[in-house]
Amino acid sequence: MEEAAKTLKEYQEHIDEALNDKFLRKTLDKFAVEYRVSRDNVFKEVPGADCVQKIADTKDWCSKHLEELYEQFKTEAEKRGVIVHRAKTAKEANEIVVKIANENAVKSVVKAKSMTAEETMLNVKLIQEKFEVVETDLGEWIIQLRDEGPSHMVMPAIHLSRYQVADDFTKVTGDAYNPEDIPQLVKVARVQLRKKFNHADLGISGANFCIAENGTFGIATNEGNGRMVTTIPKTHIAIAGLDKLVPKLEDALNVLTVLPRNATGQRLTANVTWINGAGECEIGKDGKKNLHIIFLDNGRTEIAKDPLFSQIFRCVRCGACANVCPVYRMVGGHKMGHIYIGAIGLILTYFFHGRDKAAILSQNCIGCEACKDICSGGIDLPELIREVRTRCHDEFGTPVKEVLAGKILKDRKRFHTFLKFVRFSQKPMADNEGFIRHLPDILFSRHKFKSLPALAPKAFREMWTDLKYTLESPTMRVALFSGCVQDFVYPEQLEAFIKVMKHHNVQVDFPEEQNCCGLPMFMMNQNDVAKEIAEDNLKAMSAANYDAIITLCASCASHLKHGYHTILGDAANAFIEKTTDFSSFMVDKLGVTSELLNKSGEKVTFHSPCHQCRGLGVVEQPHALIDMAAEYVPCAEEQVCCGFGGSYSSKFPEISSQILANKVRNIKETGASRLVTDCPGCIIQIRGGVHKAGLNVKVSHIAELLAENLKP
Ligand code: SF4
Ligand code: SF4
Repeated sequence: MEEAAKTLKEYQEHIDEALNDKFLRKTLDKFAVEYRVSRDNVFKEVPGADCVQKIADTKDWCSKHLEELYEQFKTEAEKRGVIVHRAKTAKEANEIVVKIANENAVKSVVKAKSMTAEETMLNVKLIQEKFEVVETDLGEWIIQLRDEGPSHMVMPAIHLSRYQVADDFTKVTGDAYNPEDIPQLVKVARVQLRKKFNHADLGISGANFCIAENGTFGIATNEGNGRMVTTIPKTHIAIAGLDKLVPKLEDALNVLTVLPRNATGQRLTANVTWINGAGECEIGKDGKKNLHIIFLDNGRTEIAKDPLFSQIFRCVRCGACANVCPVYRMVGGHKMGHIYIGAIGLILTYFFHGRDKAAILSQNCIGCEACKDICSGGIDLPELIREVRTRCHDEFGTPVKEVLAGKILKDRKRFHTFLKFVRFSQKPMADNEGFIRHLPDILFSRHKFKSLPALAPKAFREMWTDLKYTLESPTMRVALFSGCVQDFVYPEQLEAFIKVMKHHNVQVDFPEEQNCCGLPMFMMNQNDVAKEIAEDNLKAMSAANYDAIITLCASCASHLKHGYHTILGDAANAFIEKTTDFSSFMVDKLGVTSELLNKSGEKVTFHSPCHQCRGLGVVEQPHALIDMAAEYVPCAEEQVCCGFGGSYSSKFPEISSQILANKVRNIKETGASRLVTDCPGCIIQIRGGVHKAGLNVKVSHIAELLAENLKP
C-alpha cells in the first residue's frame, strides 16, 4: 500500500500520477455519469429523504446508547451460540482473530469483503503469523494479488483495467488470457477461489448490521462468496465496528433500503445473508458452527461522545460520498483517503490511521457539498472535513501564506490598499478583455490552464457615488453586499444589478464599511479572523434598516447564511434572515415577471454554483429568470462543481483544471452562445477556461443578462 504523503508537495506528486492515468480518468468519469442516472431511477421508488432522516435519527440514538446496545446484542447472540468479543484497538482485534485461529488449528483463511478488517490491516497480521489468507470478493482478490488497498469502499478494484486483471491472473495460473473476454476472466477467478473455499479452515467476514434485539448480524454482498465464507469453513469470525449496532431488524431494513441504492444504484444487493446464531455444521464441534463476532472500538466510543463528530456513526459505508465527489472523480480513492476513501475517508483517516496522515489529505476537498447532499446518513461531511483541518492546523501549525492572508483580510482598509497596489502593479500585464496577458512562469506555470482576470480599473466602491440614486416611493429598500470579487474584479456585474433594481423600483444602499464575507478565512480554518470579519459585517450592514441584504455571489450568500450561524450563533439571526442570493430575491421576494423584460432569442445555458444549489437549495429560480430574458438551454452536469473552490484552485491547480475541462466540454456541447451563473468565483473559473479553450461563448452573471434585456 502506498505511504501517505508527508508534505503538500509530495501529495501533489502522488496526485499527478493519478491525473496522468488515462484509464482511471475514463473509468471514473463514466462511472460518475452513469451512477447518477441509476441512482435517480431507483430512488424514485422510495421516500429517499425520509429513509435518510430515519438512518440519521437511529444512528444518532445508537451513538448515545452504545453500551446498552452492545450488552443486549451480546446477551442475545450468546443465547444463540455466538461468542462475542470486543477489541479496544485494531491491534487487539487482530490478536483475537489470531488466537481463535490458533485454537482451531487453522492453516488457511478465506475472507469476504470487510472494510473493518481493512481498517485493522488484518491481512498483514495474518500473513505475518504464517496463515494462508485469500480474499474471495473478486475485486478484493484482484487487489490482493497486486498488494494494493481498495480504491473504493464498494468497488475496490474500480481503478483497474481488464488488461491489468488479465496480466495478474496470468501470474497466478501461468496461462494467458484474452482481456476482452471478461466472462472467461470471471471464470478463472471462480475456479481458483473454489479450490480455496474447499480447503479453508476459517472464514472471515464483515457485518453491515448487528441487530441488538435478536443478536442477528447481516451481510450485504453482490457475489456469492460472502455466503460461502460464512458457511463452508467450520469456524467463522465476523468483524464489525461498534457503529454497526442498531436496535431492531426494521432499522437494519431501513439501512438496506438506502445502502445499495446509494452505493451502486441497485434496488438490492444480489445476496443479503442474515446470521441468527451458530447454525448446523457437519464438521463443527457438536455439529455446530464455531461462530465468533468481534466488535471493534478503535476510538469509536470516544467519537460517539464528540458533539460534532458523533455524526460519523451514521455512516453505512455506501461509498456514495466518493461517487459524487469531483475530486475523487479526478484522482481516485488511493489518493483520497488512507484506507477509507472519499469524503468520509478524509475524516476517518484522522481518527483511525493517524492525524499526521490526515493533515495533508484533508486539504484536498473543494467544499462543493455534493457528498453532504447524497450521504445515506445526512452527515455534514464538508463541515467535518473543515473541522479535521482546523484540528490539524492547531496541532501542526498554519501555513505562513494563510497566516499572512488572514492578517491582510481582517483589516478592511489594509486589504483594500493591498488590492489597489495589485491593480497598479498589474497595469502592464492587463489586456483589453480583462485578462492578465502574461504571467511569469516561475510563479504561475501550474496555473495557466485558464486565463486569469485582471482587477478592474475602478472598484465598485469607487463608482458608487456616481451610481447611487434615490427613489420617491420604492417597493423595497435593500442593502447590497458586494463581496470582494465583484467589488474589485467584476464591478460591471454590480452595475447591472443596480440597473435592474432601479428598473424594478427597488432602492439600493451600499454600506461602505462592509468587508470580505470571511469565507476564505473560514475555509483556511482561521476561525478567529473569520469571526472578527463576521462581526464587522454584521455591524456594517445594519440589517434592521433593510427589507433584504442581497449578494450576487452564491458563495458569500451561503457563508453569510450558514457560516455566520456556525461562527456567531443566534446573534446573527436577524442578519441571516434578511440575507438572500440574487436569483431567490428576484423570483421569491420581488416576484419578478416577464412584464419588465424582453425575451431575446439568445441561447443561454447555466452553471449552478455549488453554494447556490446545495448550499442554499436554490435550483429553479435562475432557470426561471433566464427563461424570461432568453432561450434557456440545459447543460449536462449543471450542478457539478466548476473546479474553482476559492484557494483550492491555486493549491491543487491540476485537479481544478481537469474539473474545469469537463465543465467546458459540457458547455460546448450545449451549442449555447452564452453561459450565465450566479457567482463571480465560478465566472473567474469558467470564463478563464472558455477563453483559454478559444470557445466562442460569452460568460456572464445572470444579472447582466437581465440588465441587457430590460424593457425600455
Ligand atoms: S465537499 Fe465536495 S470535494 Fe469535498 S469531499 Fe465532499 S464532494 Fe468531495
Ligand atoms: S459518509 Fe455517507 S455517503 Fe459516505 S460512505 Fe458513509 S454513509 Fe455513505
